[in-house]
Amino acid sequence: MSERMFSFLSRNHKKTGDTYNPLGGECQHKCQYCYVKTLKKMFPGVREKYSGIPRIKDKWLNEIKQFTKDDYVFVCDMTDLFGYWVPTQLIQTILDAVRKSPAKFLLLTKYPQRYLDLISLGVHIPQNCIAGCTIESDIDHLITVPAKNRLQAMADLSSMGYPVMLSIEPIMKFDLARFPLWIAKIKPEFVAVGYDNYNNGLPEPELKTTLHLIELLEKSGIKVYRKTLREKNDVQDCEKEEEAKTGLT
Ligand code: SF4
Repeated sequence: MSERMFSFLSRNHKKTGDTYNPLGGECQHKCQYCYVKTLKKMFPGVREKYSGIPRIKDKWLNEIKQFTKDDYVFVCDMTDLFGYWVPTQLIQTILDAVRKSPAKFLLLTKYPQRYLDLISLGVHIPQNCIAGCTIESDIDHLITVPAKNRLQAMADLSSMGYPVMLSIEPIMKFDLARFPLWIAKIKPEFVAVGYDNYNNGLPEPELKTTLHLIELLEKSGIKVYRKTLREKNDVQDCEKEEEAKTGLT
């Protein structure tokens, strides 16, 4: 999903921020910067859970019982609950469990059209959730869901009265004349902005451009959570680092 983690999540159950992961199976977005891919290589348990078809186990689903009204929990930080490949019945089962919980939940997807599709089927987003979308830029750099489609779906969802947020992470080069206007149109409760933490060689904006974006958002009354903010990596430098790591130079 997005770079880990958000400072506003509670840490009552995990040092890194509370998470709830009832859904297994392979994430089909296959983002270039996916950290789950790395974790799967390191940990057999992660590889087993996040491979294959989407599925729920009672044990995973019941982990929701640990959360109380004092918790703010990230749902599915290792895949995309709202991915186009996830059966509606599984999403509905998880949202029903979330709805019954006293905790507050962050949902996050790269395919926000699914929120709208679910609503049109009568599967509503529970009131104890904020509906989030990861949108690294208003320009299409990497993944298969076009940025404009994500922005439009979030604007539509917001106009229906659902509380929404945006995760602009890992941030990539964007159009400063256009991106803030889109974000203002979406009227998010907050946004989180941060650079790639793992040297993935992404096309990054200049730091001053990102700071200008943050300033524009804050001036328009949008709360911004600052995550990793740094000077951009030169892509060629990243490539050289990778080559050095793999012994190609
Ligand atoms: S959406 Fe998240 S889990 Fe899926 S490929 Fe992208 S970074 Fe990985």
